[in-house]
Amino acid sequence: MRALMWFRADLRLGDNPALHEATRRSENGVVAVFVMCPAQWKLHDDAPVKIDFLARNLRALSASLQEVNIALRILTADLFEHVPDALLKFAKSQKCNALFFNDQYEFNEQRRDEQVVDTFENAQIPCFRSTDQCIFEPGAIRTGKGSYYTVFTPFKNNWRNQVATNVRAMAALRSPRRQLQIVGMPDSIPSNPLDTPIANASRDWAAGESAAQTRLTTFIDTRIHAYKRDRDIPSIEGTSMLSPYLTAGVLSVRQCAAAAIEANDGQLDGGHEGIVQWIDELVWREFYKHILVGFPRVSMHRAFKLETERLVWTDNDSQFEAWCHGQTGVPIVDAAMRQLTTTGWMHNRLRMITAMYLSKNLFIDWRRGERFFMQHLIDGDLAANNGGWQWAASTGTDAAPYFRIFNPVSQSKRLDPEGAFIRQFVPELADLDDSEIHDPSCLPSLVRSRLDYPEPLVDLSVSRKKAIDAFKAL
Ligand SMILES: Cc1cc2nc3c(=O)[nH]c(=O)nc-3n(C[C@H](O)[C@H](O)[C@H](O)COP(=O)(O)OP(=O)(O)OC[C@H]3O[C@@H](n4cnc5c(N)ncnc54)[C@H](O)[C@@H]3O)c2cc1C
Repeated sequence: MRALMWFRADLRLGDNPALHEATRRSENGVVAVFVMCPAQWKLHDDAPVKIDFLARNLRALSASLQEVNIALRILTADLFEHVPDALLKFAKSQKCNALFFNDQYEFNEQRRDEQVVDTFENAQIPCFRSTDQCIFEPGAIRTGKGSYYTVFTPFKNNWRNQVATNVRAMAALRSPRRQLQIVGMPDSIPSNPLDTPIANASRDWAAGESAAQTRLTTFIDTRIHAYKRDRDIPSIEGTSMLSPYLTAGVLSVRQCAAAAIEANDGQLDGGHEGIVQWIDELVWREFYKHILVGFPRVSMHRAFKLETERLVWTDNDSQFEAWCHGQTGVPIVDAAMRQLTTTGWMHNRLRMITAMYLSKNLFIDWRRGERFFMQHLIDGDLAANNGGWQWAASTGTDAAPYFRIFNPVSQSKRLDPEGAFIRQFVPELADLDDSEIHDPSCLPSLVRSRLDYPEPLVDLSVSRKKAIDAFKAL
């Protein structure tokens, strides 16, 4: 057998189930392929910074694959619908007679994969699929009645039980088997596949598996124990900042969970509270991927809670633009939005605050915010992004209750008391006192007029009440 290994969101050699299988079964070499789909990526709103990160990781992957005698070849198919034919033609040209890949769960990706499998099976080429993005494949964790969970905590409890009883599920795979001979020559990787300008800050995220592993090890060795305390403070590096690596699959969720459990002396529950909390975040990631499969409508711009589709959102383009550009007059919101647009990443607590401000205080359709996030995030991931937005907008699974609306100014005072984060991203407020920086609208008008900073778009308590009334009326 000569295997064709199709890389997608799994750009690594370590703990890669499909690659492991391909190299184990193949007697006649392995050819690796990645299919560039720039038009599809644009349709999916993938951010230039995310595609740049992908391209840099492909380069690192190609170098690592050569060490085990596998050439990474690059195809371009523009749209997913062109992938099956392009891939089959390539497989035939390389004399590959089996296809290996790890599953993806977004609706369009699943449809593409089904078409690929049909096309290959019609050509008598078998396909071998593996589970990689989750520890347990979507559908494997269900309620007693056999349905998908729609609430996080029972899902998490069941997930923990399954890990406890299925230790093998947590055993990271060995490196892929080195091939005797390389088949073909690796292709060069385009440096800017979307041909659009990229935020310089994207270079702060070093590419490649060893960079990801170093980041994981450093986090586990130095910060995970304080995670529960520090994870909500945006001015410090209190979280792992591994999301871009998990999204591109440069790191597996199993590698993360296994490292955390080991640091917790084998415990999933109990032990260090910081570690347990961090494992919970990995389970949130998994929960949202299961939701994507159990409720495919969320992949198609639909609300999880269908009754919330009756909400009549405000269509205020200028307020939306102000939110996008960090000009709302609420400093913590503006600092967060500027963090997103200048670095391609945003702290989790700030994602919650900005999403709630857009969907509740401005009462703008969460889908517009979800899309803007995708267009700018280096870690843009449909399941987590949609899950987060629908949580904030109270339209999703296990969503924030509609009456519990964050006050961004109180959040700012609590989580950024000295305004360190605000000062970093909203320099026009840098000279204000700690007590003034969270809400400059309270300053005397003369002082305010000297600041090059907008007045708040809306009154927080009035807009909050309006949102609650709209939900009550459903
Ligand atoms: C409105 C909104 C949009 C979001 N969009 C995305 C997105 O596009 N891509 C993305 O990866 N995450 C998204 N998240 C989840 C979360 O904000 C990020 O995963 C986290 O900020 C990444 O930072 P970290 O790697 O330091 O996380 P850590 O706190 O170190 O957590 C470790 C890992 O767990 C996962 N994780 C953590 N929190 C969540 C969560 N709430 N939901 C799902 N997975 C989680 C991530 O893979 C993360 O890397 C979103 C959250 C909200 C509220």
